[in-house]
Amino acid sequence: MNSLRAKILTRPIHRWAKKALPALSQTESEALTAGEVWWEAELFSGNPDWSKLLDVKTPQLSVEEQLFFDGPCQELCGMIDDWKINQIDGDLPAEVWQFLRDNKFFGMIIPKSHGGLGFSAFAHSEIVRYISTRSVAAAVTVMVPNSLGPGELLHQFGTDEQKDYWLPRLADGRELPAFGLTSAEAGSDASAMVDEGVICKGHWDGEEVLGIRLNWAKRYITLSPVCTVLGLAFKLRDPDALLGNEEGLGITCALVPTGLDGVETGRRHLPSSTMFMNGPTTGKDVFIPLDYIIGGPEFAGKGWMMLMSALAAGRGISLPSMGCAAIAYSAHTTGAYARIREQFNLPIGKFGGVQARMGRLAADAYAMDAARHLTCAGLDEGRALSVISAIMKAHATFKMREAINDAMDVHSGKAVIDGPSNYLLPLYRAVPIGITVEGANIVTRSLIIFGQGSIRAHPHMLDNILALQEFDPHKSLEMFDKSFWAHVGHTTMTLFRAWGRAWTGGRFAPAPDAGKATPIYRQLARWSAAYALTADFAFLTLGGELKRKEMISGRMGDILSEMYILSAALKRWEDEGRQNADLPVLEYAAAAGLKRVQAALDEVINNLPARWAAWILKFFTLPGSTVAGPSDQLAAICSDLIFEPSATRNRITGQLFKGANGDALQVLNDCYPKVIDMAPVMKRLRDAKKSPEEALEAGLLDDAEWANLKEMKSLVDKVVAVDEYSPDEFADLYRNPTAIGNQSSDERAIEAAE
Ligand SMILES: Cc1cc2nc3c(=O)[nH]c(=O)nc-3n(C[C@H](O)[C@H](O)[C@H](O)COP(=O)(O)OP(=O)(O)OC[C@H]3O[C@@H](n4cnc5c(N)ncnc54)[C@H](O)[C@@H]3O)c2cc1C
Repeated sequence: MNSLRAKILTRPIHRWAKKALPALSQTESEALTAGEVWWEAELFSGNPDWSKLLDVKTPQLSVEEQLFFDGPCQELCGMIDDWKINQIDGDLPAEVWQFLRDNKFFGMIIPKSHGGLGFSAFAHSEIVRYISTRSVAAAVTVMVPNSLGPGELLHQFGTDEQKDYWLPRLADGRELPAFGLTSAEAGSDASAMVDEGVICKGHWDGEEVLGIRLNWAKRYITLSPVCTVLGLAFKLRDPDALLGNEEGLGITCALVPTGLDGVETGRRHLPSSTMFMNGPTTGKDVFIPLDYIIGGPEFAGKGWMMLMSALAAGRGISLPSMGCAAIAYSAHTTGAYARIREQFNLPIGKFGGVQARMGRLAADAYAMDAARHLTCAGLDEGRALSVISAIMKAHATFKMREAINDAMDVHSGKAVIDGPSNYLLPLYRAVPIGITVEGANIVTRSLIIFGQGSIRAHPHMLDNILALQEFDPHKSLEMFDKSFWAHVGHTTMTLFRAWGRAWTGGRFAPAPDAGKATPIYRQLARWSAAYALTADFAFLTLGGELKRKEMISGRMGDILSEMYILSAALKRWEDEGRQNADLPVLEYAAAAGLKRVQAALDEVINNLPARWAAWILKFFTLPGSTVAGPSDQLAAICSDLIFEPSATRNRITGQLFKGANGDALQVLNDCYPKVIDMAPVMKRLRDAKKSPEEALEAGLLDDAEWANLKEMKSLVDKVVAVDEYSPDEFADLYRNPTAIGNQSSDERAIEAAE
């Protein structure tokens, strides 16, 4: 240690920092140490090393995964009638449940050595994404056993005996898991949980053993009504000191077979009219032996760390896959519908107002799916991406909401009227589910992304905090002396970097040679430096207060998220061989994303209580408003890329369910190419100002064209049609839900007559 510096300079700062910097609670420390940082740390450094991004291996399906995707996954979607599930049966059909078990959909993340499919994060994501475009109820049913829950927790922390017994049974669906964390008291704040386990002696298999007596009342638990084993989180106490001297052992996770005395499951909630299994569960004086704690007795009290670790993977896959599915699906269906539907004698996608929405849809679909790929690549490298998973969960579902709203607005009445022909409403209804589960978005955005990101992703913040928390005062000062001065050096460097890049408009910021995308890298490097400097000033002036300034930390989280998504889009463009056709959507994503970055940074600076710091930041980072956002012309070009058939449209859409058995989605997908094929004929009629009948009579159409036009017209009528019900059918639907969809109107008439 530089002792003079430490004595004269560091010591008083150390004293001040002990008071000013955020102290970490037990749950915060566990959450922080459970995850790791990756590309977001480069963005946080203010000087991202682009080679690290570009070196990340692009995820791909293995032959086996592709076969599963083309086989059971597609077959499953063909078996599903989403309207019937949600409006008539209130459940997946029995044969679908069986198909899911037989094909090990519940064991995608369970290693092959334990009877599972052992799929990569990317394959898991692709499968959930595809099923989401067919049925949210089915997707959630598949998602949950593969996300946070017994499977993941056992895989990460289980003892060998637990893994050998449970994993094969979970993989083939003999056991169906649910995970119970949330209760009436504990929603976002799990530490408020009153569900309790008490260490005691009890009887198990005819013997007296040491175990836990459990009492709980959980709610909102997905699969709880049908699960056979519950992964339960509860607070463990040892009042009689049977395990040791500590009474409150803390949050613990155990496996509870639902057949045990005192367990109640079966009651259901109706989550936003989306009929996956979800409900409350209670337990009264349920006894389990100690080795039902996941990981065994030594994992007593380590539940929060285990949850955070499991969440780092699951949260990056499940909801982000559903969100990306919804965004791509919105772009796909809206592009087709806007081409098919005409008003004022023009396809509605030709109108600027509609183009504004479609341009955004195209760019968001491109960028968000890029972020999904990048995240899966990181997870497949075996990384526990806690901050990135939180970014993905919140932003894929925020953007899902925006995309579905855009799609609904463009489809208008067609999207409002409910019935089997409405291919948008099921996803619309699922939006609040995505926003709420696996960490509600407001708390994730305001508290977690920047809260964890700032400490973990900042090059020196965690070292500072660890130094300040060190018990031994001498060691604490020594550690702080090192980390603090490294931090000062970093901030000084960042200040000059941010200044130089801001005042030159980022023109000389470092960037790889990426062809036409190179300026976007430069801009991102510019804003990354501005962000890093602002983060340091926020720490300096707000200290521990920053944790409670959620409006500021929420915006800082948004900026980090925007930069992550945009860098993923840049990587996508590179990975896909710099597709020139996709450049407009990349440019749109960059213009819109950087505009939001600048606006959020402006708002942070405007709201910093220390005005001197705000003025310094303004001077060094934001000389005037420099990001214009996407131009109208660019929005129209991007809109056209999903309005007309294009390679970009296909790439954005990726693998989506395209409809089956003549359903509304299939009709849309059949009609779209027909409308495109007939476009020259329709133009001829418009130029001649004639109806098809008049044109036929005037010899402007040959017989084949006339037949094709008639076919197209009938498909267009079907696309535009909405469902309607007679008073009887309507009454049946609500009083006797089995009436519509299961019976023909003739059968209903016969029944009525009888
Ligand atoms: C359909 C569905 C399925 C679910 N499945 C499961 C499951 O399988 N297992 C399980 O354990 N749980 C499950 N949940 C529970 C889900 O994780 C919780 O609903 C979620 O954690 C939020 O809790 P809450 O609804 O009680 O909201 P609350 O915690 O009451 O929060 C209300 C609002 O306040 C915000 N908020 C809270 N604290 C803060 C803060 N400090 N800063 C800023 N904003 C804050 C939240 O973001 C939210 O917007 C499910 C929920 C639903 C609806």
